[in-house]
Amino acid sequence: MNEYKHVALIGLGLIAGSISLAMRRAGMGARITGHARTARTRAKALEMGLVDAVFDSAAEAVKGADLVILAVPVGAMSAVAAEIAPHLAAGATISDVGSVKGAVVAAVGPHLPDNVAFVPAHPMAGTEQSGPESGFASLFDHRWVLLTPTGSASDAEVQRLSDFWAALGALVEYMEPDHHDLVAGVISHAPHLIAYTMVGVADDLTKVTKTEVVNYSAAGFRDFTRIAASDPTMWRDVFLHNKDATLEVLGRFTEELFALQRAIRMGDGDFLHDYFSRTRDIRRSIIDAGQDTDAPDFGRVNPQEGDT
Ligand code: NAP
Repeated sequence: MNEYKHVALIGLGLIAGSISLAMRRAGMGARITGHARTARTRAKALEMGLVDAVFDSAAEAVKGADLVILAVPVGAMSAVAAEIAPHLAAGATISDVGSVKGAVVAAVGPHLPDNVAFVPAHPMAGTEQSGPESGFASLFDHRWVLLTPTGSASDAEVQRLSDFWAALGALVEYMEPDHHDLVAGVISHAPHLIAYTMVGVADDLTKVTKTEVVNYSAAGFRDFTRIAASDPTMWRDVFLHNKDATLEVLGRFTEELFALQRAIRMGDGDFLHDYFSRTRDIRRSIIDAGQDTDAPDFGRVNPQEGDT
């Protein structure tokens, strides 16, 4: 594998921190430089050894890097790209980890000089936590990373980035940016919006007290609250930048919801049973694909029995 010698991470949160830890786990000897918006995050990343050096500006952090990964919220990508563009090394590969691809390609691409390769990426892995402390080396293990290469990158440059992700434990697939955004809309973005809504509804139902919501949450609601605890800045930016796909999926969701609502009203048990059988099959195929465990309750250990 043609390893990168100097990787610059712009943004030092969950995803960048996990990249750094997975690189070290894979035995990569690359120099890692980084930049984050606040002095606190920069100091924390340095203290944790996620980077060999941090810089007060993104422009300084990318100097001499042969791989630059933008790991900031989607809405910050354009400004960061404009800042680093004049300081990129000739021949460098520029990538990102943004959850939306069409908008990132449009926001970043025009700023970049002709002598660099732009290969956008989206690791389909994450948690509801953020910040450098939340990263872990196994985050990408057996998780898909979707690459949406642009015309500025040669096959060899795309393959090199693909090899990099594979060494971090990931499975790599290629997609067109718009198709990526629809896929992400179905499997990630709309579900997050539905979770945010469900938690908002529970919060709004004044006849159900906050204590009841909290105490009895294990009955399904808890998994919504975990998703709805995700970073507000990141998710605001996802919805603002994947507008079309999210609205398309939500339109279909609303139609299905009305169909189920009608079946409940009409007492159509067959409809409900068929529907829930179909969804159970989908869950089964996710487990068969190794993307989740079939342990009850997602393998969570009961806190009372905890084996901390
Ligand atoms: P995070 O933990 O909140 O970290 C974001 C980082 O970006 C922080 O270090 C923050 O610095 C920095 N930042 C924000 N605005 C900046 C700016 N203008 N200039 C420089 N640095 C800036 O977020 P994350 O979960 O790692 O997400 C990063 C990217 O990965 C996002 O685009 C997201 O869509 C994508 N992604 C996330 C997940 C997930 O589940 N979390 C999964 C796949 C992809 P400060 O701490 O100093 O503010």
